[in-house]
Amino acid sequence: MPVDPVPSIALNFEDARRVVEQQAAQISTPATESVDLLVAAGRVLSDPVFADRNLPPFPRSTRDGYAVHSADLTSLPATLDVIGEIRAGERIENIPKEMLAGQAISIMTGAPVPAGADAVVMVEYTSQHGNRVEIARSVAPGENVVPSGAEAQQGSVLVERGVRLNDAAIALAATAGQSRLQVYDRPRIAVLTTGDEIVSIDAIPGPTQIRNSNSYSLAVQIRNAGGEPVLLPIAPDEPRKLRTLIEEGLKSDLLLMTGGVSMGRYDLVEQVLEELKAEFFFTGAKIQPGRPVVFGKCGAGAPARESTGTYFFGLPGNPVSTMVTFELFARPMLEALAGMAPRTLIFTHAKTKSEIRVKPGLKRFLPAMLSGEFEASQVELVRWQGSGDVAATARANCYIVVPQDRDCIPAGEFVAILSR
Ligand code: AMP
Ligand code: MG
Repeated sequence: MPVDPVPSIALNFEDARRVVEQQAAQISTPATESVDLLVAAGRVLSDPVFADRNLPPFPRSTRDGYAVHSADLTSLPATLDVIGEIRAGERIENIPKEMLAGQAISIMTGAPVPAGADAVVMVEYTSQHGNRVEIARSVAPGENVVPSGAEAQQGSVLVERGVRLNDAAIALAATAGQSRLQVYDRPRIAVLTTGDEIVSIDAIPGPTQIRNSNSYSLAVQIRNAGGEPVLLPIAPDEPRKLRTLIEEGLKSDLLLMTGGVSMGRYDLVEQVLEELKAEFFFTGAKIQPGRPVVFGKCGAGAPARESTGTYFFGLPGNPVSTMVTFELFARPMLEALAGMAPRTLIFTHAKTKSEIRVKPGLKRFLPAMLSGEFEASQVELVRWQGSGDVAATARANCYIVVPQDRDCIPAGEFVAILSR
């Protein structure tokens, strides 16, 4: 049955991104499971980690040296009586309850600073002879001591819900004695690649056929973003078979399709989704690569979540377009489905090595190489044949972001970059 053509909704990049973020904000959090701390990195925390004690639990010396009254070091050199030694992990009964004026105590990094002392002098500025220590430098009150609870108070949140667990978050969980963490289930992301010319990587391609690479790059990007890819069979450019596979894909938490969203006679993805009564938020973005990108939601199929429908993206089939549009639009949606707290997209900046010339009207994300050393970085476009050129993109380590209204960026100007 013929359907009306899908009305074209082509947005500026920023508007399209905001539409995705608004939809992502409406997603309810997934189910959770408990995992061992050693395999929790990359998962998204569902139950906050609380501090079971102050951090640090005692006033901690950050240096090897002598715990002192800073007021005793106003005239230098000063000579103080050494009344003992405190090692890291020193038994509490061995730590003096007070320290009188004129007294010092030898102390090690990570050891508790005794009551009465208000600073630690580094050992480098001291020389001990018997029970006397000569000190050549003064210290400010509090110097080289982290007060108990200064890093976190007992009972406070150390790692918030919705945080994707990295090395520091895992270290905090370990500090709080959590050998297991409650995390959100990974969302299942269906990948449906389309095109009569596309063949499986196990097949020997005919002279005009192309091996399916998009499903594999997407699987990597999905895993990196915290999802579980589910690869569907390759869909031909034929409405009935395409429809069956789209319906299958809509049973997942999110459906990513590649190809079939341009203006060609056999680009049927939008038409089939229209038949399935999909809602379209946009059907294009003023970007390159990736201009024909489609974002919407469809109630058909049997959605995995008890929601009103499944979100989908139609990503343009050119391999670089697929990669870029995933990063710009699909990733925030996937992260929301994974339970992550929303975050804005931030570009960093680097100086261009050479002039960049483009036609204005589209925001460009051009494969580029960031190089240099230490603070002296510079970025340069990688020579490429356009959005089908995955070989050039493999040689790139970032994209230069060219604003929509610019046609020329002179060498030496700071440009925004998106890492890859
Ligand atoms: P389309 O978006 O369907 O017009 O496809 C644009 C270009 O991307 C064509 O040259 C396709 O052959 C190519 N292409 C589409 N899907 C894939 C895929 N899964 N792997 C590699 N290339 C693809
Ligand atoms: Mg195609």
